[in-house]
Amino acid sequence: MVENAKTAGLSLGAGCNNSCVFCFGSEKNSGPFTCVLEKAAAALKQHQAAGVDRLVIGGGEPTLCENLGAVLRLAGAMDFEHVQLRTNGRLLADPARCRAVVEGEVDEYAVSVHGAVAAAHDFLTQSPGSLIQTLAGIQNLKKLGQRVAVCVRVVKSNYRNLPEIVQLAAALKGDRCEFTFVDASDKIGDEQDWLIAKQEMAGPWIKKAVLAGRRLGLPMTVSGVPPCVLGGESWTRQVCAFPGPVRFNAGAPCFPGQSPAAKGPKCDSCRLFDSCAGPSLAYTGRYGWSEFKPLPAH
Ligand code: SF4
Repeated sequence: MVENAKTAGLSLGAGCNNSCVFCFGSEKNSGPFTCVLEKAAAALKQHQAAGVDRLVIGGGEPTLCENLGAVLRLAGAMDFEHVQLRTNGRLLADPARCRAVVEGEVDEYAVSVHGAVAAAHDFLTQSPGSLIQTLAGIQNLKKLGQRVAVCVRVVKSNYRNLPEIVQLAAALKGDRCEFTFVDASDKIGDEQDWLIAKQEMAGPWIKKAVLAGRRLGLPMTVSGVPPCVLGGESWTRQVCAFPGPVRFNAGAPCFPGQSPAAKGPKCDSCRLFDSCAGPSLAYTGRYGWSEFKPLPAH
């Protein structure tokens, strides 16, 4: 991973074979598609010219792209420091397909796992059988010596199960674990309030899961949650990530970006003021600032 890397994304298309309840831009339950290589090459060249170090290839679901290998070769021929493929991993359950993708030599596979058991994960993906395939995909990647980040979208229905998801990630020999709090943007209407956890409720569970992951030797990151929600201990500064905006060639609904973040009315008295970007404005716009309590000086 490149420190302070300039990150950009390459979306291969909006088609996806999952139908995640928190995803509002993809074309759900899609079939395979073919990428226009000239367009992908032009986007990659643009990113390279802009000095991008870290390329995130996503979708939709990029493994649905029938010429993914050719896209990966194009990316590999450029001098990005780090190339990540963000996938739900389902199609990688087929060992032959997984081997073919791995030939593209990406640096890391960021695989979405949203529950520790099928009922929880498949409810969120709205795709029966998806967890079994995703886990098989991760196992195939690990058998082929690949680096895997287990990526969890934190929502109301799964935050109590984060410690179990971390255990699962460790059992699968995942290389790191990434929690991203669901974006409370206005794409989620009031009728979907059931999806968004309150941070003060989820915080203790996120903390428990992060500490469990650290005990298991898993590097952990949490996006979209400021350190005060996790108690503000020194480790929260390393764990809480504040990803900057990522420029994509096209819409990339599966990239866990967050709405812009900002510190609140009381934050200037917090000891972590300088190292915190604050909660997302979409979240505080919906639920206010009362959950974000300044941490006193030591
Ligand atoms: S600066 Fe504000 S949002 Fe950040 S940890 Fe402190 S109180 Fe929380």
